[in-house]
Amino acid sequence: MSIQAKAYWLEEPGKPLVHRPLEIPDPASGEAVVEVLACGLCHTDLGYYDGSVPTKHPLPLILGHEVVGRVVAAGDGHTDLVGQAVIVPAVLPCGNCDFCRAGRGNACPGQKMPGNDVHGGFSTHLLVPAAPLVSLKDAPETFDLRELSVVADAVSTAYQAVMRSGLGPGDAAFVIGAGGVGGFVTQIASALGAHVVCCDISQERLESMQSHGAEKIVDVSGGEGRALKKEIHGFARDWKVPSLRYRIFECSGSPAGQLLAYRLLARGATMLQVGYTPKRVEVRLSNLMAFDATIHGTWGCPPELYGDVLRLIYAGMVQISPFVDYAPMSGLDGLMKKMADHQLTQRMILDPRK
Ligand SMILES: [Zn+2]
Ligand SMILES: [Zn+2]
Repeated sequence: MSIQAKAYWLEEPGKPLVHRPLEIPDPASGEAVVEVLACGLCHTDLGYYDGSVPTKHPLPLILGHEVVGRVVAAGDGHTDLVGQAVIVPAVLPCGNCDFCRAGRGNACPGQKMPGNDVHGGFSTHLLVPAAPLVSLKDAPETFDLRELSVVADAVSTAYQAVMRSGLGPGDAAFVIGAGGVGGFVTQIASALGAHVVCCDISQERLESMQSHGAEKIVDVSGGEGRALKKEIHGFARDWKVPSLRYRIFECSGSPAGQLLAYRLLARGATMLQVGYTPKRVEVRLSNLMAFDATIHGTWGCPPELYGDVLRLIYAGMVQISPFVDYAPMSGLDGLMKKMADHQLTQRMILDPRK
């Protein structure tokens, strides 16, 4: 029995979304239909919406890749999921390729992203591969499941970046860009026992991170590179952390942030490129050689790691609620405009029934 979903379609970039039905067929073997409880609004959605980033699936397409919901139908092999609350990860790996078998499902060449490769969560329902769905059956009863939509992208991406960096207790984490993913990198690195220095151009964002894991904050707006490096490395020296244990997270996705992150490299240090910008920067790559240093790219998060992320959240070591706000999905066009005008300070979580 097929389901008539009500969805917000992107038909043409730069134009308002169109609210119309989507016919969802019975799930085939390996698929599931998820009734959307909430879907987060991400900056990536804005890129698709205004046409600055093309979607992989041709338009019309339903955007939205931060979904929490309940499985209402499942194909062969996954019928045990029916009735369960789940997160739909933003990166849905194929599960069978060399990357997936090596635990690198986040880099799987056959991965699907809701709201980019397939229809997403700006809808009452969506059809997705069942195997990567993350069950929320262990969530504390008092927990507002809607906030876990943010785990599908912002929190899990931050967790994967921290894991990829090899961060351990007592390390120094330098986080460039304290909003969104960078804010969660800060909380996770602190929860795992690192000293965290948060760098941003917004004093407001920096102050909010002081009560969420940042031991030191540095306003880098207008700062000169050499002086900033001296100040930030100075904190690590005070903590007696050798540069071998510097973990630098570039989360701003800006050329200035990337240049600062690169400048913070030192002997044996590790840098993670987490943010995105299409722009280029010019660096002296040979510094890596001279420092015996490492730079990793990092993308999304394999579904296997979600259990560890959720344990940190359930234990209150990573907090989402201070950083999110709720709105009806019918207000999507207005929210996109506010996001474009940099008027949203919170991550928005949308209700498809309103
Ligand atoms: Zn996103
Ligand atoms: Zn794969």
